[in-house]
Amino acid sequence: MAQRPQPRFPEPNTEPYWEATKQNELRYPVCTACETIIFTPRRHCTDCGSQDLEWKVSRGEGTVYTFSVVRQNRMPGFVDLGAYSVAYIDLDEGFRMLSGVIGIEDPTRDIHIGQRVRVEFEEQEEGEYPIPLFRPI
Ligand SMILES: [Zn+2]
Repeated sequence: MAQRPQPRFPEPNTEPYWEATKQNELRYPVCTACETIIFTPRRHCTDCGSQDLEWKVSRGEGTVYTFSVVRQNRMPGFVDLGAYSVAYIDLDEGFRMLSGVIGIEDPTRDIHIGQRVRVEFEEQEEGEYPIPLFRPI
């Protein structure tokens, strides 16, 4: 098991998002007035300002938009990872999120722009919120 940083609450913008990770669900808010997807999540629509949002569940599949590889990170929770990826993922529902690609041998070689990936939730040693990461399909 890993130990990545955990969210801290109260933090009303993203709390429903993090609560859903406990059920291994990737949730995202959609404005009921103008249908804009708000991601990263906010309490209001970033397009029209409405606070009338509906939370939906993503199928968790998408493509790698772009990525970078961190070769060394001395922060607790990352120091033992070795080289790891930081990637923008375009979810099929139409929003982009920052995450990482896992389940590969070498992040400098095995990740490609346009690669199909699926979310999975990495349980943490401490803290109740699993971290959504993406694995090649
Ligand atoms: Zn709106």
